[in-house]
Amino acid sequence: MASTDTERGVRVRFAPSPTGKLHVGGARTAIFNWAFARANHGTFILRIDDTDPTRSTEENTQIILRAMKWLGLDWDEGEGVGGPYGPYKQTDRLDIYREAADKLVREGKAYPCFCTPEKLAADKKAAQERNDPFQGYQRTCRDIDPAEAQRRIEAGEPYTIRIKVPLDRGDVVIHDAVHGEVTFNARELDDFIIIRSDGTPTYNFTTVVDDAMMGITHVIRGDDHLSNTPRQVMVYEALGYPTPTFAHISMILGPDGKKLSKRHGATSVEEYRDQGYLSDAFVNYLALLGWAPDGETTIVPRDVLARDFSLDHVSKNPATFDFKKLDWIQQQYMQAMSDEDFAREVLIPQLRAAGVEGDELSHDAAWYGLLAGALKPRTTLMPEVVAQSAFLYTADDELAYDEKAVKKWLGKEGARTALEAAREAIVGVPADAFAPEAIEDALEPLPERLGMGKGKVFQPVRVACVGGAASPGIGETLTLLGRDHVLARIDRALPLAQ
Ligand code: GLU
Repeated sequence: MASTDTERGVRVRFAPSPTGKLHVGGARTAIFNWAFARANHGTFILRIDDTDPTRSTEENTQIILRAMKWLGLDWDEGEGVGGPYGPYKQTDRLDIYREAADKLVREGKAYPCFCTPEKLAADKKAAQERNDPFQGYQRTCRDIDPAEAQRRIEAGEPYTIRIKVPLDRGDVVIHDAVHGEVTFNARELDDFIIIRSDGTPTYNFTTVVDDAMMGITHVIRGDDHLSNTPRQVMVYEALGYPTPTFAHISMILGPDGKKLSKRHGATSVEEYRDQGYLSDAFVNYLALLGWAPDGETTIVPRDVLARDFSLDHVSKNPATFDFKKLDWIQQQYMQAMSDEDFAREVLIPQLRAAGVEGDELSHDAAWYGLLAGALKPRTTLMPEVVAQSAFLYTADDELAYDEKAVKKWLGKEGARTALEAAREAIVGVPADAFAPEAIEDALEPLPERLGMGKGKVFQPVRVACVGGAASPGIGETLTLLGRDHVLARIDRALPLAQ
């Protein structure tokens, strides 16, 4: 009976190189790995591939860890949490790679190469000139006697270590979970370097040593690595480990069909966080870049993703980053929050971040709940709530009026009559009953009584209280402001009204 993934114990890893921030493409790879692990009750590992010392920094590692935490992608083993297969940072594993390479040399599966860069360049040129179908490394040092090689090493001659690709290996066939069967001609693979002359290991070697030793069952990564895979298969075979299942996921394109880049908009996870996307909405959106539970579902909450994700539904076609769809999903998540949650998770933190609220809140819970309910349908990015509530955090005599709104709604005949009537109606609502419904009930008869359109009556009130023509419902707006402030603001606006 074929063993299922669950029986074998799925182990997947996300292995970013800390050469920059966590980008959207990397985040999507991380999400797929995480979801695959969760859906199969497997283990999700975070490994830091920092063997490129010129470009990797500890600062970037910390940025990536922060981004992973913000995304809510918890890892079971790896950097920061440890685990039985550590260390999980490649620079802490250099001895392991060296040992693995030395073992391959002892077993005759790898060998030291003493060719100078000049010699390699000359060989390449000669291969080109004679139109040799094989233009790779010419295997010059492959058959040097091991004792002779050892003498040259001890004499201090610089050398690299190359893997010995078996000459009779035949095609390398990869059964990629996304791309299907992909065949590479092994005769085109040269004996590539696994340890450089400065002693540092190469990516194709470290990745396989780690994936093999960490028991990785599925390698889910960007398809820019598909072309590395036949070389990596050579390393698995030399080391004597089974190859994992590979799943190479597609590129992410911008709306113009070109590779997603800064030109299209934000590319790092941090930027989306800072712009005010909800982590849940952002993860939902990224999960849909190349994966779909079916043809139409667009709202896939984290728990559903963690239950239903499967590689069968991952597309090999490039995914297009659709900023409008991201916003739409964000709005769906906003709408789905209760007013209390919106107040606690969005509104209050944003007001605090903007400095208009401190540790001690200026209103009671009901007030924030009312404001949350009013703003929720009008908000896409979280910080928008600050500008939308600014009129509530401004002194009555400092409220600035939008010129156009004043001209349109206060500058026309009848505005003063409307404002005066509204004032009188509002005065009639007692302070202890000052609530949206009571206010609306009091204002409602005015248009008919004055023989004016609704806009002509209510918009002047809005401009007087908010400074502009847009705000939540009039009842909520006035309730939030409070009776005294409403009256003070109407009094201040009356002289402007025609
Ligand atoms: N460190 C590699 C990268 O960031 C990981 C590639 C892999 O998953 O094998 O592209």
